[in-house]
This record gives sequence, C-alpha cells and structure tokens, in this order.
Amino acid sequence: MKISNLRATQPDTPGSPADWRTQLGQIVVEVTTDDGIAGIGVGGGGAAGVHIIQTVLADLLVGRDAEDVENLHAEMFRHTSFYGRVGLVVMAISGVDLALWDLRGKSRDSSVARLLNRDVDIEKPLPTYLTVFDDAEAIAAIRGGHRAIKLHVERFGDRPDPNQIAQLVADTRASLGDDAEIMIDAFARWDLETSLAVAKAIAPYRVAWLEEPLPPEEVAGYQVLERESPTPIAGGEHEYGAASFQEIAEQRRHVVLQPDINWCGGMTTLVQIYQIAAQHNLRVCPHRGCEPFALPAIAALDSQPLAESPRKWFKCLEGAAQICDGVIRLNDAAGFGVSVDPAVWRD
Ligand SMILES: [Mg+2]
Repeated sequence: MKISNLRATQPDTPGSPADWRTQLGQIVVEVTTDDGIAGIGVGGGGAAGVHIIQTVLADLLVGRDAEDVENLHAEMFRHTSFYGRVGLVVMAISGVDLALWDLRGKSRDSSVARLLNRDVDIEKPLPTYLTVFDDAEAIAAIRGGHRAIKLHVERFGDRPDPNQIAQLVADTRASLGDDAEIMIDAFARWDLETSLAVAKAIAPYRVAWLEEPLPPEEVAGYQVLERESPTPIAGGEHEYGAASFQEIAEQRRHVVLQPDINWCGGMTTLVQIYQIAAQHNLRVCPHRGCEPFALPAIAALDSQPLAESPRKWFKCLEGAAQICDGVIRLNDAAGFGVSVDPAVWRD
C-alpha cells in the first residue's frame, strides 16, 4: 500500500470565536494510496500548513509504504527539524500522521481504538466536561450529565484578584456539591506570583487542576509553581512533539498533560505521551478530547478518562461521535470513523 497523493485544505468555520486563530485554523488532510484507500486527518496551520503538506511532506512521502506509520512520523519530524520543531510545521505533520492512522485502520478493517488496544471496551460511556463562565452554566452542565466543568476566567485579566477567583470557585462548588470535578483555565497570561496566590486561594474547593496559568515557555516558573501549588497544574495544549512532554514530565512542570492531537504530532505522538505519563505517574487529559481523533486514545489508553467538549464550529466531518446526556461513546467504524464533506475540496 504505497502513498500516491497528499492534499490539504482549510474549511470555512463560520461562528468560530474571536480568539480562534482563523487565518491559521484547522486543516483537513487526505492521504491516498495506490490501492484506492483514502485516509483523513485534521491538523493545524491554515494555508501555511497546507503548503507544508503539499510540498515538503508530499515530496517525502509519495511512493512510501503507508503502513510504516511510526517510521514516516519520525522522518517527517527529522526532515523538518531545522525550521519546524514547534508550531505550524508540527501541526501540519499531525494531520498527515492522523490520516496515516486512518489508512491503517481502514486497510485492516479496524477502528483506531482497536488498533491501540485490542481489548478496548467500545460500548463504555466516556465522561465529558464542558467549559463554562459562571455557576449557573456549571449547574446546567452537571444536570445535563457532564462529569466536570472548567471555569473560563480570562475576563478577570492578566493579574486577577485571587479572592475574586476563589469566590467564583466557592460559589460553583456550593452549587455543584462534592462530586463534580471543577477545573480552571487561565489562558497562559498570569505571572508566577499571581498563579501561586490563586492556586492557594482555590485549594479549599478541591479544584482538579489549574490550567496554563503561565505562558508555556516559563519553564522555571512552572517548576516552582508545581512544587509549591496545593492545586495540580495542567498544561500542554501548546507543546509539540513527545520530547517536549518528556521534558515537562522530567522537570515536573505539569501533573496533568493536555496534548492536542491535531497539533502535537498526531496519534503517534499521543501514544508516546501516554507512555511518558505512565512512567512519571502523570494524568493525560487531551485537549478537545471529544473530537474524533483523540477519543480513540482516551477510550483505549486512558486509566482516568475525561473528554473535553469539541470545537463546535468545526463542522465538516461526518460520523463523529456526539455527546449524549453528558457522556460520549466511540464510533467503531474503520479508522477514525469519520468522512469529510466533499464540498471542502471545492474552491
Ligand atoms: Mg486550555
């Protein structure tokens, strides 16, 4: 099964939020083989990602054995390492890797979840969580069946008053009771002093994690924060490649890893991240885990599954599993079980 063509495109995403990187948004990737099978993946990087795939990666992969996924993944990283170890190039590689995993599943008539774990429980309902803005939305989410909620606190600014955030968390905990998990996402804009003060202020309310309080490049700050914070520190949606997650684990910057499978290097990288996490006793909670690409790994590899709600404005995939009563179940069709609206390929 030789690779005969790669193509990619950025579909329209009407209704995407203002902070979404529209010009560099998600791209659909298709890898076809000489026996007529097409694999579908999703990566990032917009037109820049499309260009990388249709030039550099196409030159590297056309004519190669599509089954050789792990070696092709390593070659894509090595081939682009002088200019693309993080960011847009790895986002593009992610989409190609996912298309290769989709091809592997389709050629063996197996879902990706079964490729990852032959004994995966396909029927198992996987708990999900939703991002909310206040405790009224939190109550609605938990009543709707979600296991957990994440509080969006960007509106409190770059140097928030820790007492204000603690009050929000206290109100939410009082509304939800003891069982629901509560998390906070800080959008990577606080400083160390603020992050530590917030982490201490919210500790009495048992927050499952404080997500991205510092910018991702603040390596030393994260090491201090994780050591001194009574609240677990999460991050990783803006990290690229397994080596980055190995460093995070060894330096103990986060205890919850949140790789985005469409950005970090695809399924091959995510499998490596699960192995790193197991060796270091860390939790993995993939970014946007309800989407069809990370969900098989959550079902097949995760001992503490919790799937984040999907990007609602990315609508060109058909067949994706849907959240129902707060839980989500795998689609067991071959590959990732999704097809792409053919309209995305039209100009
Ligand atoms: Mg986040």
